[in-house]
Amino acid sequence: MSLRHRPREKDQGGPAGGVSVHGAERGVAPAILWSVADDPHAPPGPASVRCVLCAHRCLLRAGRRGICGVRENRGGELVTLVYGELVAAHLDPIEKKPLFHVLPGSTSYSIATVGCPFRCGFCQNWEIAQAPREGLRHTTFHAEPAEVVDAALSAGARSIAFTYVEPTIFAEYLLDVARLARGAGLRNVLVTNGYCTPESVAALAPWIDAANVDLKGFDDATYRRICGARLEPVLETLAGFRAAGVWVEVTTLLIPGHTDDPAGLRALTGWIARELGPETPWHVSRFFPAYRFGHVHPTPVATIREATAIGRASGLAHVYPGNIGGAAERDDGITRCAGCGSLLVARSGYRVTDLRLRDGACPACGRRLPGIFEAGLEHDRRGPAVGAGTGGR
Ligand code: SF4
Repeated sequence: MSLRHRPREKDQGGPAGGVSVHGAERGVAPAILWSVADDPHAPPGPASVRCVLCAHRCLLRAGRRGICGVRENRGGELVTLVYGELVAAHLDPIEKKPLFHVLPGSTSYSIATVGCPFRCGFCQNWEIAQAPREGLRHTTFHAEPAEVVDAALSAGARSIAFTYVEPTIFAEYLLDVARLARGAGLRNVLVTNGYCTPESVAALAPWIDAANVDLKGFDDATYRRICGARLEPVLETLAGFRAAGVWVEVTTLLIPGHTDDPAGLRALTGWIARELGPETPWHVSRFFPAYRFGHVHPTPVATIREATAIGRASGLAHVYPGNIGGAAERDDGITRCAGCGSLLVARSGYRVTDLRLRDGACPACGRRLPGIFEAGLEHDRRGPAVGAGTGGR
């Protein structure tokens, strides 16, 4: 499987690459998480359906698609339009997701289809995420779940990442890949906007090991204005994944004038510390102009520093500034023991440069670092300049 389009991770700046054209209608498959809807005013014909995959809970009359643009009512039954139709497949450092407490120094085989239930004007991957809404057509390549798992194993990945767009919109395919991956000894990770329902959390959580969830702000009006969505379902998803035993890290993109209000960040980080736990990693990411937010200036590094201080003052033990390039300081990529302060993991960009964990615990005091770690990997990867260096900022 080869990469046809390499999108940006959510903490990357700058414009994404170009796309190409595709017009076939492969990828149609029965959808999960829907039911026939009570729709007394629907015209005669096939039944309307209600999709409960994401918190939009779209009502789709016959022939209509949901907000994500990749699920359609065909003859009274919901189908997905993107089963196995990948626009991206790429080997990334797990640190690029970003997931800093999951198999440090390993690589994750990262895949995506088109589509997203959000309409964020600042999306770095808008060409694929917003493709249905923008009328963009892409070259896709079909990959059966077993092919994805084989490709990941051949590439030496330790996990499969469902990423680049909102991956829950291709849940049917995701679950088929994840089940096979689990059986092959791979981990499954989600990079998600968290706009799930309790139903989709229940379907996904048993197969997902870790999730990086965007928490774009702590204000419902902001969510409605910049994403076309609501805050509460995201908080419920974060708590739902946590309760189900999924390892959770949180990312907040600081967009000047939109999501960088200190009072809001105090409320957001206080909620994380209280509801998810003080050792939940919080990634504070710098914004760069993109898509419909081309007129907004990049986040000042001083704002990132201020937010980092707010997170720590709220009691978060692991706060990571992201996407700050040359302004990064040595401590930015360091994970320290929350008990004794000893260095556990050091990173330079996406590269792990020092890994001192022993069986997932601090070598000095023995305190466990919450996350997903494997002794063999730690020992393999210890030492200078390890980890994959692909896909820089
Ligand atoms: S997944 Fe798509 S069709 Fe289903 S509720 Fe969300 S936006 Fe609507």
